Amino acid sequence: MEQKKIYEVAVYLRKSRDDTDGEEDVLLKHETALTDLVRKNNWRYVIYREIGSSDSIDYRPEFKRLLKDVENDFYDAVVVMDYDRLSRGDKEDRARVEKILKLSNTLVVTPNRVYDLNDEDQELITDIEGVFARYEYRMIKKRFQRGKKIGARLGHWTNGPAPFPYVYNSEAKSLDIDPNKLEIYQFIKKRLLSGATCASICWELNRMGIPSPKGKLWQESVVYRLVLNEVHLGRIIYGKTSGGLHKNRKTAPFRVNSRENWVVVENAHPAVKTLEEHAKIVRLLEQRRIHSKRTRHGTYVYSGLVFCGKCGSTMQFQPKENGRVLVKKCQKIDPYGNRCGNPGCDLEHVNKAVVESLRDYEEEIRSKPIQETGSNDLTPQMMLRLRETELDNLHEGVSRLKDLYISGDLTKQEYRSRLDRQKDLITKKENEIQQLKETLQIGGPVSDKDRLQRIQTLNNVWEFLDTKPGEKNRLLKQIIERIEYTRDGYGIDVQVKFR
Ligand SMILES: [Zn+2]
Repeated sequence: MEQKKIYEVAVYLRKSRDDTDGEEDVLLKHETALTDLVRKNNWRYVIYREIGSSDSIDYRPEFKRLLKDVENDFYDAVVVMDYDRLSRGDKEDRARVEKILKLSNTLVVTPNRVYDLNDEDQELITDIEGVFARYEYRMIKKRFQRGKKIGARLGHWTNGPAPFPYVYNSEAKSLDIDPNKLEIYQFIKKRLLSGATCASICWELNRMGIPSPKGKLWQESVVYRLVLNEVHLGRIIYGKTSGGLHKNRKTAPFRVNSRENWVVVENAHPAVKTLEEHAKIVRLLEQRRIHSKRTRHGTYVYSGLVFCGKCGSTMQFQPKENGRVLVKKCQKIDPYGNRCGNPGCDLEHVNKAVVESLRDYEEEIRSKPIQETGSNDLTPQMMLRLRETELDNLHEGVSRLKDLYISGDLTKQEYRSRLDRQKDLITKKENEIQQLKETLQIGGPVSDKDRLQRIQTLNNVWEFLDTKPGEKNRLLKQIIERIEYTRDGYGIDVQVKFR
């Protein structure tokens, strides 16, 4: 049977009131039957899964979404278990559904029959081939008249560079598998499924000299994202986000859409992992995430402040039974799997060094001539106010331009081009203001006066805060940017960098 003219179909799943035995199983059976049918014909498909079993369209949100997409000409056919699943409600509903199917020239395909609502003789045609033949002829005409169907873009890869191990096929506008990369992908998948962590897979790959998709060393996060990618299931997902992130142009606000609003096209390109494998990977990674969350530690006085002087990573702490705290041996592992191993020590050594540095630092500031904030130095707050006034002026400029246009002092063309320029300036100014606001949130540049004040506060309250390490940590972070710790044998080096 030749069915070349069908590319994209919608699979609609819905419980009917008749499906009384074993609730979920009936839907699953239907899903298997329909996806088998669709895959056998090599159609790309999007599944619409209705949870409720209401007859009225108003209570079938997925069906409403399907109708809208059919109306927008997304699909060549709707695939259902039986025709009644589409419209069994009242006459009005039925008429509405049939009208939309007719106007968009969308077929209805069931495992036993094909319905073509534009074919008046269809009652007479019981074989599928006959319907397709007539339908194809109309489709050719329609495509010719209207250019490409919107739906024909549905299976196309438009989501940026092809993800590993695929390559973009520009002719078919879809993804092909790169056989060399596939070997690496299968290796990663196999190792993960047999219990290896993302990190250890990275070390293996790096030791083997296999470059990452971007030609660099493999990183844990790259492997993590790779193994969870749904594109590898043969899927393309559209509509994860909407709106734009364009800096200098005003577009609809950027937002992340919820999963039920995504359009998931199945069978869009060859899959490199099965649904079962995917489910197992998701489960494995989720278990590890929960596990690592549970072992998280509380806040210590120096949490997030002490960095390894050898490799730069954050040092961890460990409480001892006697109430002391240890700086743990550096656990950082390089891209090839070698541990850093910068030895730990009693935190007291670090603490002493910090107290000393702090005292030196305070003295150093006091010995400097007192600097009042120069009159030319604008604080970020003042800068922000200034920029906001400038923005107001720019907005006023827009209405002045309008006045000039209305009074005939500007031609339409002049008005247009000057308005465009003004709008550019406004957007630029808005961006500047946004940036300023962001720096204000982080806290702008600190003056020596601020520094002294913060050190004094710290000294005044330090001994009263022994039971509140979190509060000590907060105060320290206002003064100290990072503490670098290195140990070689008995030699301990502590470098304190102030803000
Ligand atoms: Zn280290």
